[in-house]
Amino acid sequence: SAGEGVLLDLDGVTMRFKGLTALDQVSLTVHEGEIRGIVGPNGSGKTTLFNVISGLYHASGGTVRFGGTRIVGMRPNRLAHLGMARTFQNLRLFRNLTVREHLLTALDRTPTRWAWRYVLWPFGVQHGEKFLRAEAEQLLDRFGLAPFADAIPYSLPYGIQRRVELARAMSAHPRLLLLDEPAAGLNGAEKAQLAEIVGSIRDSGTTVVIIEHDMSLVMSLCGRVTVLAAGQVIADGLPTEVAANPQVIEAYLGR
Ligand code: ADP
Repeated sequence: SAGEGVLLDLDGVTMRFKGLTALDQVSLTVHEGEIRGIVGPNGSGKTTLFNVISGLYHASGGTVRFGGTRIVGMRPNRLAHLGMARTFQNLRLFRNLTVREHLLTALDRTPTRWAWRYVLWPFGVQHGEKFLRAEAEQLLDRFGLAPFADAIPYSLPYGIQRRVELARAMSAHPRLLLLDEPAAGLNGAEKAQLAEIVGSIRDSGTTVVIIEHDMSLVMSLCGRVTVLAAGQVIADGLPTEVAANPQVIEAYLGR
């Protein structure tokens, strides 16, 4: 059974693709309120780990628990309803929707939204629509997107596009947010803003697991860091401990 405050628990998770073992007996425990860093050389299995946790891949072996519930085999949609959200390495934004419309469509899919519809029936859709719009405005404010609400994301600086993706992932108030290389392609100022936003997401009660290559960002943001190499966990601990670990240094230099 899960310990006190454990939100995500992986036990001996293995993921095989034909001849390749992308994850080999991975165990890790993330506590409620953490910002956990996942680092490791290219091809070490980080994205595969996220794909297993978020239900895109069905683990070949091992157990994954989210809030105490076994989730291996559950579809991404179901996991979203249980309170899991993620972003992808490559932005997945639409070319025909404004920033506000991105948030409105995301909000329209959340369970809360459907609850409101039910509660407000028979006044119906109109009232529900009002709540939806108000929530979208809140998200715009919270993520500093209000000035760009009517713009198409692809016309905006990359750092702002990333923020749209974050806002969209946060629309359902998830318990767990998985971020796959959110700082890739950002400049220094944008990275600093991102760090601030991720910190505030955690402070608002969402646990964060973040795959990130930028070590200074990992060091400043993460309470604990898990290091993968060739599909195995080779270190797990405080950022300073992990950075000084000879096996970790070897894994990076060995390539
Ligand atoms: P990282 O995110 O650390 O760069 P990945 O998780 O993307 O690493 O990849 C780990 C290994 O798993 C790589 O060798 C990759 O080619 C392989 N892999 C990932 N997804 C698939 C897949 N769908 N089919 C086959 N091999 C895959």
